[in-house]
Amino acid sequence: MPLKNKSNILKDTNTQSESNFRDKISTVDTAGKRKWMYVFKPKGKLFNLRTWFSIVYLGLLFGLPFVRYNGNPVFLFDVTKSKFIFFGQVFLPQDFVLFGIGMLVFLLFIVVFTLIFGRVFCGWACPQTIFLEMVFRKIEYWIEGPANKQQIADAKAWTTELYVRKTIKHIIFFSLSFVIANTFLSYIIGLDELVRMIKEPMSEHVLGITMLMVFTFLFYAVYAFVREISCIVICPYGRLQGVLLDKNSIIVIYDYLRGEPRTKKRKATEEKIGDCIDCGMCVNVCPTGIDIRNGTQLECVNCTSCIDACNMMMKNVGLEPNLIKYASESDVATGVKPKMTYRIKAYIAVLLVLLGILVGLLVTRDMFDATILRVPGQILQENADSTISNLYKVKIVSKSGFTEAYHLELNNKNARIEYVGKKLDSLKSGIESEETFFIKVPKELITKRKENLKVFIKSNDKIIQIKKITFIGEY
Ligand code: SF4
Ligand code: SF4
Repeated sequence: MPLKNKSNILKDTNTQSESNFRDKISTVDTAGKRKWMYVFKPKGKLFNLRTWFSIVYLGLLFGLPFVRYNGNPVFLFDVTKSKFIFFGQVFLPQDFVLFGIGMLVFLLFIVVFTLIFGRVFCGWACPQTIFLEMVFRKIEYWIEGPANKQQIADAKAWTTELYVRKTIKHIIFFSLSFVIANTFLSYIIGLDELVRMIKEPMSEHVLGITMLMVFTFLFYAVYAFVREISCIVICPYGRLQGVLLDKNSIIVIYDYLRGEPRTKKRKATEEKIGDCIDCGMCVNVCPTGIDIRNGTQLECVNCTSCIDACNMMMKNVGLEPNLIKYASESDVATGVKPKMTYRIKAYIAVLLVLLGILVGLLVTRDMFDATILRVPGQILQENADSTISNLYKVKIVSKSGFTEAYHLELNNKNARIEYVGKKLDSLKSGIESEETFFIKVPKELITKRKENLKVFIKSNDKIIQIKKITFIGEY
């Protein structure tokens, strides 16, 4: 049997209008049980636009892990190795300050964007909404039929046909979740690692396989059962709307001056009636089950489905469209178009300053990170050729996104480098390389117990870094 609360299977659009709508969330009934959302499929210009946008979005999301720039993935967020790649540029833990400022810029951008454009990201670009509304919900319509048919079928005793339909749906949902989990993982560990994990025995990738299955079950749970609860209760961005929005923010809004008093009876009468025909379509298409006529609510993800639904109804009854529209609170109340408030200007000023700092740090960022240390346990060696040698190890990583030529030189002509094992002559971007080498100095030229030397790290005859090291002599 379904787990859904069948006592409230039909959306009662009148109860949505009660003044106590702010005392409870739209998806919970008075007994505290979850109301399953049977969302009518929207039709209209905005929904078509969202569909096209989501096709491009999903194409990019699934395609980007395959795109490489100079051998590196374009995007990689490898938290396991603390390595991040943006547009081929490698960022390592040494770039922590950059990362911190980058996060601040990102958060502030979200604040400014939300302040001006409301929660438009949620409805149009959040992966949760795109997958749920443009993929999983559409599959559900395809297998189980439109929302009203689903409501009726779920309310009755389950038939064999319904069991079969539900089973097929959940198999497809789970398979899709597995594909999404693989894609998600390819952004975290990289496509190469993922392919290796798939090809090699499972016993060698216990952690990776566990992560893959955890993500698969997580996505499956979210898209098959949790759904709009993620946006209403779990998502921290959604919870912030109350403090981010103001009366100048552009939101999905019902033009109550034009729409009220709402009435289903459209006969000619002495009384003034509003344009809202109280058809309830705006509620029926709402994925979070709210009635936008009650005003802005934290459940609204700005998906614009209610705009499409209302426009369709307005067209059917021969009234002007945009009774529900994208506008600000002050626009609807007074006709004043959104303006740049001091609050927005202040946020933009701080954002620009931080952006300037970030760009400055990025431009002057050192493309190489290198350390040269004496190998522990080896102080000095006296050699048969009358030289004294010290053993060092260099660890170096290039963050340029390119394979770079590399070699070492010393500032002292009397000292020379002798490599242990194979000499490195190039650095692959994002991969830490190391080599071990002796520095040898003729015994008779050593005048101090400790000699300071400089090692020039060069790429194509250009000095990329200078490292100071100490040479221990036997003086
Ligand atoms: S109120 Fe309208 S815009 Fe907001 S979530 Fe519901 S359908 Fe989408
Ligand atoms: S869809 Fe439009 S006309 Fe119908 S109830 Fe909603 S606001 Fe009123």
